[in-house]
Amino acid sequence: MECKLCKKEMETWESNNPEPLMENIDENRVCRDCNNFVTATRLHFALSRIHPEETSGICHTIQSILSLAFGLKSATEQMNMRIQPTTDFAKEEEE
Ligand SMILES: [Zn+2]
Repeated sequence: MECKLCKKEMETWESNNPEPLMENIDENRVCRDCNNFVTATRLHFALSRIHPEETSGICHTIQSILSLAFGLKSATEQMNMRIQPTTDFAKEEEE
């Protein structure tokens, strides 16, 4: 089962409901890490006096930012994996 936020494959079935950060359609589920974003969003709405009509726009913005951040993280990880062997090779050349 894939986490609907970070798109990583979850090792176990998680019951983490993504509402209100994203709609709970088609059994959408998020991983334990991403569930912190959902919980933080719930807390933010509970603690601040945001008009209910504004929440969906805010959730959409949070989702967009998280999606970009996960994309950047994935790109950085892929770049680091490509750089690693070259670095090791350079070390061997020095010895
Ligand atoms: Zn996730």
